[in-house]
Amino acid sequence: MIRIVKPPSVPPKLSRKGGQRTKEDCDSYIKFGEDYRSGVKRFIFDPNIYGNSEVREHLLHAQYGKCCYCETKILAATYPNIEHYRPKSCTRQSIEHPRLYPGYYWLVYDWDNLLMCCPVCNTNKNDLFPLLDEGNRARSHEDPIECEKPVLVHPARDDPNTHFHFSGSTIGYRTERGKETIDCLDLNRVALEENRRERLQSLRILIRIVKLGDEMSNNTDFVELVELAKQKIQSAVSDQAEYSAFAKRFEEDCRTGAQLA
Ligand SMILES: [Zn+2]
Repeated sequence: MIRIVKPPSVPPKLSRKGGQRTKEDCDSYIKFGEDYRSGVKRFIFDPNIYGNSEVREHLLHAQYGKCCYCETKILAATYPNIEHYRPKSCTRQSIEHPRLYPGYYWLVYDWDNLLMCCPVCNTNKNDLFPLLDEGNRARSHEDPIECEKPVLVHPARDDPNTHFHFSGSTIGYRTERGKETIDCLDLNRVALEENRRERLQSLRILIRIVKLGDEMSNNTDFVELVELAKQKIQSAVSDQAEYSAFAKRFEEDCRTGAQLA
C-alpha cells in the first residue's frame, strides 16, 4: 500500500447529482428510519453517479491505475471496483458480528469515501468496517462521524508507512490497525506474494548488474547495460509501479546492505 493523494476538487457530476441524491436519501431516512434500521427497507444507490467515468478517471490517475490496498495494476487486467471505504448498504464490526442496516448511506456519493480497488480486495473487505470503539459508530447522517475511530488504514488519509513494514515479499504490521487491515484484506494472500516475489527477483538481478558496473567501467557494452538496469530500478521503485512499496524497501535494503543483492 502506498499513500494516495486524491485531487481535492470533487468531480462535478458527483458533486451535483450525488449531492442531490444524498439529500433525498437523508430525507427518506428521516421518514422511514426504523424500516431502514430493521433492514425491511433498503436504499437503492446509483452506480452511474458514484462510479461515473469522471470519478473513475480521477481515481485511476491518483492511484496510478493500481488497487488502493494491494497495489495490483487494475487498469487493464480487470474492471476496477469503486470502493466505499465506509460501506454503503450495511456494515459490521467483524465477520462474527451481525450486519447493521443501513450502511453509510449519506457517504455513498462522498468524494472522501471513494477509492478504487481490485475485485479480490473488494470481496475480502465487503461490508466490514471495524471501529476501535464500536459504541461511537455513526448510524445515520445525524450522528457525528468524527467520533468514529476506524480500524482499517485509509490509503488517502493515513500514512501506510506508520502502520506497515515491507519485508521481502511480505507485508508486516507496526500497529494493531495495520494488523487488522492485513487480515481483513488478506494482503499476504498466495497470489499476491508470488507476484511480489517475482517482481523482487527481477529487481535483485538489476541491482547486482548496477553493483558489478563499478568493476566493469571500461567495458562500454556493460556500461550501457548498467544504465538500462538503473532506469529499470528507478521505474520499479516509482509510485506508478506495481508493488512499489515493497520494491522501495527492497532496493533500500540492498543499497544499505541490510539485504543481500
Ligand atoms: Zn487489491
